[in-house]
Amino acid sequence: SETRALVESRLALIPDFPEPGVLFRDLTPVFADGAAFHALAEALTAPFAGRFDVLAGVEARGFLLAAAASVAAGVGVLPIRKAGKLPRAVLREEYSLEYGTAALEVHEGELPPGTRVLIVDDVLATGGTVAAAARLVERAGWHVAGVSVAIELAELHGRDALPAGLEAYSLLSY
Ligand code: 5GP
Repeated sequence: SETRALVESRLALIPDFPEPGVLFRDLTPVFADGAAFHALAEALTAPFAGRFDVLAGVEARGFLLAAAASVAAGVGVLPIRKAGKLPRAVLREEYSLEYGTAALEVHEGELPPGTRVLIVDDVLATGGTVAAAARLVERAGWHVAGVSVAIELAELHGRDALPAGLEAYSLLSY
């Protein structure tokens, strides 16, 4: 599609970042290009039109995408934050990184029970991050409407780490 080609043309590929052997896909040139950013934000919600009430962005690049897409869609944003940032009572989900663990948090009670939440992030790699976000949303009493990412690294099989039956969309897959 036109959007796919536009976003891909702005992607930067960085060899050996953050460590040797990793080819990092850098979206900052996409964010910096008005046409590409706008098209990407709309592409992330289009497959789920009418099936979500709010967008959840995963800190930090997911915040940019969720915020832009939420304005276009006329819905609110739920920030899914790294541990220790939110001031009120939180739910926390830990997930594995290559070395060690990390945790994501949301404010409990931030949304009404049953709210349909579309989770947005920049990259689906092993799937650990988005899977933790999905567990948080479910534990909070909301419904995961789906997962939408700009880029899926298909060889890492992140889809298989997501809860069974969860619909996942990626604009670009490598
Ligand atoms: P996962 O938990 O799926 O293994 O990793 C996904 C998280 O790592 C995402 O939040 C994403 O921001 C980051 N990530 C992993 N690989 C890349 C990459 O090549 N480019 C970018 N921009 N982020 C990545």
